[in-house]
Amino acid sequence: MTKFIVDEMLENLARWLRILGFDTLSASSFRKENIDVDKAILRIAMKDDRILLTSDKQLASRANKMGLRAMYIEPNLSLKEVLRKILENLNIREEAHRDMLSRCPLCNGILVPANKEDLTNKVPPSVLKIHNEFWICNNCGHVYWIGSHFRNINKVLSEVL
Ligand SMILES: [Zn+2]
Repeated sequence: MTKFIVDEMLENLARWLRILGFDTLSASSFRKENIDVDKAILRIAMKDDRILLTSDKQLASRANKMGLRAMYIEPNLSLKEVLRKILENLNIREEAHRDMLSRCPLCNGILVPANKEDLTNKVPPSVLKIHNEFWICNNCGHVYWIGSHFRNINKVLSEVL
């Protein structure tokens, strides 16, 4: 299982890696603790065996010197280019095919199938009326279904995978 940690500039990339099914922590989630963020990133990467993705060249080389796996993400690349590069360089396309859409893009939690009957207070009635398949995040409780937003996601996935 490939796991990532991304720097604060790559929040959007983190969401997409989660959509692809990868366990991905974002440094922005511990910014508030007023700590040395770079140090915390390196410590967590080491402890959890996470690959560091960063737009900070110095941080990437610092990680490499410590023996961590790190990839420098050029800031001028598009999201699709970055995703393709990551999947290709790390040879994890198959893993993404297997695990995509299993994680919450918002919080990295795991999505589990939900019963329609349990969602009456969580999803608008109009949505419940026309959809039958729902998933709920086991961490933040966000509910997902295959709606219009999903078609955009699917388009990106088909171009990347
Ligand atoms: Zn969640």
